[in-house]
Amino acid sequence: MAFVQRDSVSVFVGLGANLGEARHALETAVKAIDQLPHTRVLQCSSFYRSAPVDATGPDYINAVIHLETRLNAYEALKAFQSFENLAGRERPYRNAPRTLDIDILLFGDASIQSPVLTVPHPRMRARAFVLKPLSELLPGWVTPQDLQSVQSQAIEKLDASRSDDL
Ligand code: AMP
Repeated sequence: MAFVQRDSVSVFVGLGANLGEARHALETAVKAIDQLPHTRVLQCSSFYRSAPVDATGPDYINAVIHLETRLNAYEALKAFQSFENLAGRERPYRNAPRTLDIDILLFGDASIQSPVLTVPHPRMRARAFVLKPLSELLPGWVTPQDLQSVQSQAIEKLDASRSDDL
């Protein structure tokens, strides 16, 4: 059978953490994702601090990255879940605080509805912690109305040069 070379897909991924060294966990995740086979991180948004949505607990640190990969969406999901587990992720209950959360937001123009994967991510347009960083990388995708609809959600952009922000 002939080997079929898969095209690279442009992917946007949301990162979040609100336990432990959250910013460090995100930076480690970006490096780990960049080292996946057939994968390259092209851009990382600013880091943001956001209040938990539909949950209690410490503030989150969030960012969105843009990558290109020849992995398929399920291979990428599996890799991201292994990074969550390596970061010490536990799932005691829904929306529990977390050492690392990696969500596939957009996977090329794929539309996926399976038991383990929904893409585009179903809640991404309702979350300031996705829309704000994503608007830096993909401004045409996030509309002013999107941003207005999440303006009650507390979020601030962190100063890249200040480590005492966290
Ligand atoms: P969470 O607790 O937020 O990490 O959710 C993890 C669950 O969401 C896993 O069982 C995934 O299979 C599922 N899931 C569905 N769609 C996505 C997506 N777009 N990105 C990441 N996880 C997803």
